[in-house]
Amino acid sequence: MSKLPHIGTSIFTIMSQMANEYNAINLSQGFPNFPVDKRLTDIVAKLATQNVHQYTPMSGYPPLLDKIVNLTQQSYQRTVSPKEEILITAGATEGIFATIQALVNANEEVIILDPSYDCYEAPILLINAKPIRVSLNDDFTPNWESIKKATNEKTKLIIINNPHNPTGKTWTEDDFIQLEKLTVAFPNLVILSDEVYEYITFEQPHVSIHHRPKLWNKSISISSFGKSFHITGWKIGYVIAPEHLMKEIKKVHQFLVFSVNSISQVAISEYLDSVEVNSLGNFYQQKRDFFRTLLKDTKLELLPCEGTYFQVASYANISQEKDLDFTKRLVTEFGVATIPISTFYANGKDAKCIRFCFAKDDTTLSQAAERLMKL
Ligand code: PMP
Ligand code: GLN
Repeated sequence: MSKLPHIGTSIFTIMSQMANEYNAINLSQGFPNFPVDKRLTDIVAKLATQNVHQYTPMSGYPPLLDKIVNLTQQSYQRTVSPKEEILITAGATEGIFATIQALVNANEEVIILDPSYDCYEAPILLINAKPIRVSLNDDFTPNWESIKKATNEKTKLIIINNPHNPTGKTWTEDDFIQLEKLTVAFPNLVILSDEVYEYITFEQPHVSIHHRPKLWNKSISISSFGKSFHITGWKIGYVIAPEHLMKEIKKVHQFLVFSVNSISQVAISEYLDSVEVNSLGNFYQQKRDFFRTLLKDTKLELLPCEGTYFQVASYANISQEKDLDFTKRLVTEFGVATIPISTFYANGKDAKCIRFCFAKDDTTLSQAAERLMKL
């Protein structure tokens, strides 16, 4: 008997495979198609012949842990302890999995805000805990009334994702004030804050859980070097958590992967000396604006995009097909692969919206727009 009877192949795999099969422009799965910074590839080339190929300590390569202390200090003015509060993980995905396995017990509840990214549910189901889906408002802001109603003594964790995949929505300070109030009413509630797009925000600066000292003792933050340095295939990220929670998360990590691949840890540790994470927002804002301008003359209606490298658009003016059918037809008839938003909802809500990844070179974005013009 399957332990996960309702979990199938991820939509990102399905759409990327379709894009390859039909030779379509792939704006579905979220990954950049431009070259990685030469400074980073030069570091990797140099390291390949050095003595960096054996296990690192379980929680991470110590110089990398120290660099993350500096990065967290620079970005958020928060001081964390390298030994006690940081863990290098095999991507954000492993950090999220290890956190849920370590902290949630059978029959406890975990709040997920829909639409939501796909990697939260399976680890909850595997421990016989209960995912509780709460819908975001129509503008994708958190609905604090519904969140309060859904929270109870059994709620162990609330998962938040800011900036938000797929909608590009970001949290405001007021959202965090509401979250703080919730944790006063439910003192045992723990927060898992998925911030893999923390450096990709546009008009408004990112408001992080790291800016909220009242929440530090009950929060786990998740970061991804894959997203921040255009290296999604490296699968490397990190978790920051207070020592009492981190102690438990490390126990799972120890037997899930033990340690993360060494050369990428050493390479990123060196790269962090020269890279400027704060320029990432501007870089992607230009891509967002370029892509939005290109799509202006199509029949698609663009939703706001405050962060991430995803643009959501409504195709309600073009067709009333189910979004999955529409995205499949976009691949086969128009040669552009996208992601249907209904797949981010547990109840499959279909608002006739699709997601584009604009982390692509300008030529790719222009060619895709030309094809979308024909819609
Ligand atoms: N969380 C969100 C919101 C994501 O979009 C992704 C996909 N990159 C992840 C987690 C997983 O990140 P990683 O590839 O570092 O495991
Ligand atoms: N995070 C990526 C996205 O949203 C997908 C990563 C994956 O394929 N697991 O497109």
